[in-house]
Amino acid sequence: MGIPKPTIDEMIRRDEHHVCPDGSLACVRIVAVADLPSQFGDFQVVAFHSPLDRKEHAALVRGNIIGRERVPVRLHSECLTGDAFGSLRCDCREQLERALTTIGQEEYGLILYLRQEGRGIGFENKIRAYQLQEQGLDTIEANQVLGFRADERDYAAAAHMLYSLQVRSILLMSNNPGKIADLRDHGVEIAGRIPIAVEPNRHNARYLETKRVRAGHLLPKPTRLVVPEQVDGDEVPTESPGDH
Ligand SMILES: [Zn+2]
Ligand SMILES: [Zn+2]
Repeated sequence: MGIPKPTIDEMIRRDEHHVCPDGSLACVRIVAVADLPSQFGDFQVVAFHSPLDRKEHAALVRGNIIGRERVPVRLHSECLTGDAFGSLRCDCREQLERALTTIGQEEYGLILYLRQEGRGIGFENKIRAYQLQEQGLDTIEANQVLGFRADERDYAAAAHMLYSLQVRSILLMSNNPGKIADLRDHGVEIAGRIPIAVEPNRHNARYLETKRVRAGHLLPKPTRLVVPEQVDGDEVPTESPGDH
């Protein structure tokens, strides 16, 4: 019960020569859609191509979200060390699994998987920042030493993906007010927010606390339950931290 095949064909045809009139770097095209049964439920996977920066983003779609309002949406920024290797330096994989589990049980929903490793600074620089953190810097300081703002990511591509999929309004799964504001700036209609809770572990407790204190994430004080955003994939509202 996903997006019907004729609609998929139509979207691919529509996007074949699509270019945003303003020459936006974040312009994306839907190039292919396929079924993706997974351990979290049945999804469809949508391949997006960004012609200007050559990035390949993905959307994991549950149900037929075309033209819908109040679609539960999670934005996830790629984290090789967390998503694939199960790193405990961040909580990316835990956040991703939580989103997949939650949305996999819904009638419809969406995960946008954005190829912006290490908060947009890239894999090499992310590992350089880890190296600096091992010398005592926090995640924000480490990024600053490397000459980056705390968060280099841009949600314009995510907003375009929602537009391409004809999603009319979303319920954003996030604890990050900066993310909500950024998406709204890009024209996304946000009908509500679904908070996410994560347990800190001994490797990422400092990172989560940095996000809460320095980045203004809507997290409770570190008693037991901490509610951060995807640790590495998360962005920060101001010029602040960037873990990983
Ligand atoms: Zn475009
Ligand atoms: Zn991560």
